[in-house]
Amino acid sequence: MLIRNACIVDLAHGTVTEDGFCYIDGSTIASVGSGSMGRAGGHGRHGGAFRDNEEIIDADGAYLIPGLVNLHAHTAMAPLRGTAEDVTPEDWFNKHVWIFEKNLTPQDVYWGTLLGALEMLTAGVTCVADHYFHMDHAFRAFQRSGMRANIAQAVFGVGDDAAQKLDEAIAFTEEFSHADPRITVSMGPHSPYLCPPEFLRTVVTEAERIGVRMHIHVSETATQVQQSLQQHGKTPIAVLKDSGVLSGGTLLAHAYHSTDEDLALIRESGSVVAHCPTTYMRFGDMTDFLPRALRAGLTVGLGSDGAASNSTMSLFRTARDAALLAKLATRNPEEGPVGSILPLLTAGGRALGLPNYGEVRPGAPADLVLIRRNTAAMNPGYSATADILYAIQEHNVDTVLVDGRIVVKHGRHVSVDHKTVYDKNRELVTRIAQHTSDTPMQTFAG
Ligand SMILES: [Zn+2]
Repeated sequence: MLIRNACIVDLAHGTVTEDGFCYIDGSTIASVGSGSMGRAGGHGRHGGAFRDNEEIIDADGAYLIPGLVNLHAHTAMAPLRGTAEDVTPEDWFNKHVWIFEKNLTPQDVYWGTLLGALEMLTAGVTCVADHYFHMDHAFRAFQRSGMRANIAQAVFGVGDDAAQKLDEAIAFTEEFSHADPRITVSMGPHSPYLCPPEFLRTVVTEAERIGVRMHIHVSETATQVQQSLQQHGKTPIAVLKDSGVLSGGTLLAHAYHSTDEDLALIRESGSVVAHCPTTYMRFGDMTDFLPRALRAGLTVGLGSDGAASNSTMSLFRTARDAALLAKLATRNPEEGPVGSILPLLTAGGRALGLPNYGEVRPGAPADLVLIRRNTAAMNPGYSATADILYAIQEHNVDTVLVDGRIVVKHGRHVSVDHKTVYDKNRELVTRIAQHTSDTPMQTFAG
């Protein structure tokens, strides 16, 4: 496949190449350049004639960027969008989300995940680190969507059925970790406040035995940190270190209320952080986490979190929130500059162990996005990088490739019927929203 007449934007370095072309061989980028080779379409990567049966996409000047990586999501929560607005984190969990989630069936998770995957793909997100329940059904939805994913079965370390649920998660991880090269699996202990240290140690042993990563929530609120100090005499990050969770490749969702010592521990361990700015903004919480984490040398990617605390699975809006929150929290307009925020849109790929992910260069996976520039919002196009961070709208995403295959064309998924997915999700949220008087599945601690 040849994409030509594209404006290639390197999000990691902020460079822009006009009149660019990109040859794709199977699932990998074979060559990238600009000028006559791409325009003529007559000289392939080997210098030979471009064969008739190879597809040519004329990008018509569109921006070509690497696929975006959502480093922390609960994709199946897409149908819970709008169900818990203007509430505290405690009420969000205990009076809304954890009541609804108790009533989600495995089939609901399939349809919810498919809705979230459609939303992400049509917004240029090609890969997600997903953390939820009934993940065998999420697996099927990601397979159906063509999206790349790392999936973790969420487990709580408290409650009568904790041991049984952990056994099920281990069995799931073993069964699915090699089931599809596009979909990897992690172990997903929920958080240190809902997983005691001895439970976490068991998870670490099992993750090492199976050879997978861990994906966990940590230090989401100041109260969680205070309670950990009271209960364990150390911060949640220190609890993770001492139980072995904090290690190379572990994915930490949030870590928003980390101390400087915590940041140093995270950096030394090689763990990576998924920053989810929109969730905190919804809860009226504001810290200078992102500037501190980047200064401390941490590997940080962006996460949407679930649609019930963000309303969107789009990383463009999440990136914009990350930049603005960094400025607000520090009261410094020079914080969160375009050049430090845009790389976060794809940093999650390497964090998930995908080599060369997030680059448009030979050898990188052909997970690519074409962004139309022929809309008012994308003009006059003075700064491609600033426009991609601040001006872009999701409907500017025209074409999306995963693994060298076109999954979105002209803003629509090529094989999933959007309307069926919308109808199924409307039905399921109408059903589960009736269960407002149930007890929640867990209790959120501050
Ligand atoms: Zn989360």
